[in-house]
Amino acid sequence: MDLKDYDKLLDEAYEKIPEDVKGTSRFEIPKVKLRYEGKNTYITNFNRIYQALNRSPKHFMSIFLKTAGTRGKLRGNQLFLMGEYKANVLNKLIKKYAKQYVICDVCNAPDTKIVKEGKKQFLQCTACGAREEIE
Ligand SMILES: [Zn+2]
Repeated sequence: MDLKDYDKLLDEAYEKIPEDVKGTSRFEIPKVKLRYEGKNTYITNFNRIYQALNRSPKHFMSIFLKTAGTRGKLRGNQLFLMGEYKANVLNKLIKKYAKQYVICDVCNAPDTKIVKEGKKQFLQCTACGAREEIE
């Protein structure tokens, strides 16, 4: 079984999980769509992902690459990643980013913005008004 088939199986398995187990209610992050070229990976729907997260591609990319432990580059709507990555691994990293930089801890809404004050950054929720420092 090649890598693509494996990813497809994982995607299908994930789709079968009931909505309430996946959590985060109405907020849906698109699953990554991947293309492999040599030993590298392209996320071909990268633009849809950062748009859904409502963050700039630059911010998302810098954190994402750090947590993935690789280097990469924006190429139009795609993100080029050095190395081969499986879809489920990348989806998890995106979820982690969303939890830390997008979703409000108090009310679970994705309607937040990042506010900078001096050297500190806060996640400000426009839905419930909560404000938490981002570590
Ligand atoms: Zn909130």
